[in-house]
Order: sequence, then C-alpha cells, then structure tokens
Amino acid sequence: MTSPASADGLPDYAPIPPSARGVTPNEQGYYVGRVERNLYWVTDGVYQAAFLATPDGVVLFDTPPSIGHNLQRAIDEITAAEGVTNRVTHMVYSHHHDDHTGASSIFGSDVVRIGHEETRRLLLRDNNPARPVPDVTFADSYTLEVGGERVELSWRGPNHSPDNIYIHFPDHDTLMFIDVVNAGWVPIYNVNLSEDVPGYMAAPDIVLSFPWTHFICGHLGRLATRDDVLVHQQYIADIEASAREALASVNPVPYYVAGGENFWAGVKGHLDAVTERTAAPVIAKYTGVLAAADIAEFTYTTAFQIMQSLRLDRGPSGPVHP
Ligand SMILES: [Zn+2]
Repeated sequence: MTSPASADGLPDYAPIPPSARGVTPNEQGYYVGRVERNLYWVTDGVYQAAFLATPDGVVLFDTPPSIGHNLQRAIDEITAAEGVTNRVTHMVYSHHHDDHTGASSIFGSDVVRIGHEETRRLLLRDNNPARPVPDVTFADSYTLEVGGERVELSWRGPNHSPDNIYIHFPDHDTLMFIDVVNAGWVPIYNVNLSEDVPGYMAAPDIVLSFPWTHFICGHLGRLATRDDVLVHQQYIADIEASAREALASVNPVPYYVAGGENFWAGVKGHLDAVTERTAAPVIAKYTGVLAAADIAEFTYTTAFQIMQSLRLDRGPSGPVHP
C-alpha cells in the first residue's frame, strides 16, 4: 500500500475530478449559500452545516467546530439581507460525533436542542461541555415546526453511528443525512468510520426513498445529488461483489501452512490477500470518478470492513466441521 512519491517527497495522487470540486470559502473561511427558499447551507470546504432563517428564529442543523464561529457570521450575513432575526432558537443534532457538534455550546444555553434519544445517551456518556445534551428527544420520528416551517426528523436504525438521523425538509425539497455519502469523494477509512456496516450499506436506499432534489451530506464543498448517491451505492456494491468473489476464490490453506503454529499470522496472510484482491479492481474503476479513490488505504479499509461483515453479520464465516 505505498503511493508513488513525487519529486518533493509527497505522495503523488491523482488530480481531484472536476465533479468533486466545491465552492470557494470567503476570506473568513466559510461559504454560505441558499439551498431552497429560507434553507441555507454553510461549509468551510470540508464540513457542512445548515440553517433555516424563519421570522421567529434561526434553526441550526449541526455545529462542526471547524466552521465554529463562522456559523453565526453566516447566519448574520443571511438574516441581515433577508430582514429576519439572527437569533438561534433551535438546534438539531444529526448525531453525537464531536466533529459535527463540537461548536454547540458557543450558542449558549438558551437554545432548544433536539436530537435522537440515543444522541442524548451518548452525549451524557461522553460528558463534554462543548456538546450540551438535547433537551427534546425522540425515538422514531419528530416533527419540528418553527416560524411556519416544518422539518421531519426520523431514525431508521444504526448506520454510521447508532444515533444518525434523517433530517427531511419536505417544503424545501431537501434531505440532510450525515457521514454516509461524501459528494463526489470516496468514504474515508473503514466505511467512513462507521460502526454498523449492514446499516451503513442499507442507508443509501433509505436516503433515496425520501423525495428530495438537494442533499446535505455533511462533507466537502458542494451539495449532493441523487446521482451522487447512486455512484456511492455502486462503489459499495462493487466492493461487496468483489469481496464475495475474493472470499470464494482465495485459498486460505497456503497462508495457514506458512503461518505454522502462529495462527494469527495465517489469518493476516489470508485476509490481506482477500482484501488486496477485493480492492484492486474497485480502485482501478473509481480513480478519476470519485476523488481520492486512488488513496488505496481508503478502499482497502472499507473493503476489509465489508468483507468481515459478509463473513460475520451475514455468514457463513466458514464451513461447518463435518
Ligand atoms: Zn460522524
């Protein structure tokens, strides 16, 4: 898994495909744009948040620390132009992860925070004052109505995290769902650092079951489209198919013979060979299609997780001894 090095010693990766390019942040490091009507998205180029600017207050969706105080600057910019209040009255947590919620406390305690009941449990566990626990929680679904606008929150099972929710804006033709699909880019390590692999693999079908045109996926510098979800789904489906083929065709016996009494050496030899065989054709197919597909570790580690999920979640993990 070594990458070719250029003259300056840095890895020489494939250029970012034009389809993966995003907006350019301003001098303060943020970009704010209208999604539809009074729904806006904010990005620093890598992380994304969103807000609804209503006459009764601003509803903020996620608070990535990398955007941090630029969230209020973006809100101030838009609400001044639209002639509505810049006061954040409500905040929705997509999931408990700090990289999407770590700037929550800068909006103070006089904000109604809404999240899944598992988000509350996990934030209590993690006990970080930067992320106050949600005051309003729900188990399956919750309708948030502020300033004449409606947002439908729903939980459909664990995926990237146990508490990751679907945030649907039915009157803005938009869905927000974080950390599963990266618009135009491959998932990073280990199925985008996800905990539930079958849940992660099933989530894009749920995403596509909602009506929407605009998709706020949480990362990188542009909104996603339904085509982005389909390309992501195909990338994952290709890894799954390749893993099935590799599991069936790589003979483990020579690796265990070579490992001798060191059984774990045999495991490593066998699973490295399966992972290599799984990932190689996928990396070749998606280089130039999804940004960073040529950074082999990303597809290797995702392929490894999916290959293990095929064995351990779905089975069979191996033949039954006669
Ligand atoms: Zn996350």
